[in-house]
Amino acid sequence: MANAAPKLKTSDDTIKTFHGKILDWYDREHRKLPWRAAPGQLQEPYKVWLSEIMLQQTVVNAVVPYFLRFLALWPKVEDLAAAPSEDVMREWAGLGYYARARNLHKCAKVVAGEMGGVFPKTQAALKKLPGVGDYTSAAIAAIAFGERATVVDGNIERVMARLFAVQGTLPDIKPELKKLAAPFFEGAERPGDLAQALMDLGAGICTPKSPKCMLCPVTEFCEGRALGIAEELPRKKEKGAKPRREGTVYWIEDGAGNVLLHRRPEKGMLGGMTGFPTSGWSKSHESFAAPPELKPYKEKVLHSFTHFDLTLILQSGVAKEEFGGDYFWHPVENLNSVGFPTLFKKVLRLKNF
Ligand code: SF4
Repeated sequence: MANAAPKLKTSDDTIKTFHGKILDWYDREHRKLPWRAAPGQLQEPYKVWLSEIMLQQTVVNAVVPYFLRFLALWPKVEDLAAAPSEDVMREWAGLGYYARARNLHKCAKVVAGEMGGVFPKTQAALKKLPGVGDYTSAAIAAIAFGERATVVDGNIERVMARLFAVQGTLPDIKPELKKLAAPFFEGAERPGDLAQALMDLGAGICTPKSPKCMLCPVTEFCEGRALGIAEELPRKKEKGAKPRREGTVYWIEDGAGNVLLHRRPEKGMLGGMTGFPTSGWSKSHESFAAPPELKPYKEKVLHSFTHFDLTLILQSGVAKEEFGGDYFWHPVENLNSVGFPTLFKKVLRLKNF
């Protein structure tokens, strides 16, 4: 099939028409999300920053309740900065990628302290904050301050790959996709809305499988569609099977209604989170020296991290000694208030909590 779609990058007029079409669509169809301002308005940087950190590697629906809860507990960056780190980690529990929560808290302290509660207004300055990378700084700069920064997340990458029929494989084509996206933002009158419109297009119309090209406001510009290959794009490198790790998780009671918990070290897997003692699976922290009288339980906990799959065998028993360090007893009847990450919630489920 011939490639009949216009080359967007070659014409300022085409980019202008593209903006008109996608922003009209956004004004009518935008997703109503709690961290969004109305179309045409800038949003408070605290809300944009908080939502963008939560949205890194987590889907929108999962983020909404966490965002609302954080905002209710800590309405301003100063409130979040003043919160005890245990409270922040507990409220983050279940969202995953816990380094994000540690950096979030660190960043709140920098903004509330050194910057007097005012977020920097440019992408370059935002990028220097803890946990704020290239994408997040661009998103905050565009959505909160109207800077013409190039915002490219996974959704926008997919839209660009299809609009321009980019046929290489991810992640190699990331720089090319960013380069293709740049002129859209450089020429935008509403760069924040453009970013959010492209995100919404990727999330609801230009979906990974079966894109709804009939409903797409920019279908006339799309080379991928014209070539009949949109759904195949962007191509990805084949991934090998994930490695598998095994270890043990311990349910130890003291015979007086308490169970042994462990506050994990700040660095490494599930850093700073509270869980049950474990051994043998995480290189980043010491294994628990278990008392010998523990019995293997019949069940296993299966969990998938980004880079490996994990099987933990549950051992349980009674031990009365103090374990010291970061190990502490906690009332069994009050375990729901702890704020466990998902891995340890699975242990609770095995024990019928
Ligand atoms: Fe995506 Fe189809 Fe629109 Fe192209 S026409 S941008 S493939 S939804």
